[in-house]
Amino acid sequence: MMSAKRYSFLMENQSESLTLQEYEEGWHFCWDWDGLLIHKDDVEFSCCSCQSGEFIRRKHEKRNLFLASSLGIFLFVTFLCWLYIRFYG
Ligand SMILES: [Zn+2]
Repeated sequence: MMSAKRYSFLMENQSESLTLQEYEEGWHFCWDWDGLLIHKDDVEFSCCSCQSGEFIRRKHEKRNLFLASSLGIFLFVTFLCWLYIRFYG
């Protein structure tokens, strides 16, 4: 997780690059916000149109799609089990 200390360090040293983990968590330096370090849950993120932001957005959409389809498969399998138990159990 991003600590307050790490955040202010990064804001003072914008040439510093984010770690892969921080990037994975949804952080990026946003040039739409004059280089402000923002997180995907921040209000600023919903108004950002920079490339890094777009990339993160697409990535999380993909992840959400993956989670939704996993849930769908899980429910389907549960339903099949229910059918099986209901009629053959
Ligand atoms: Zn951005």
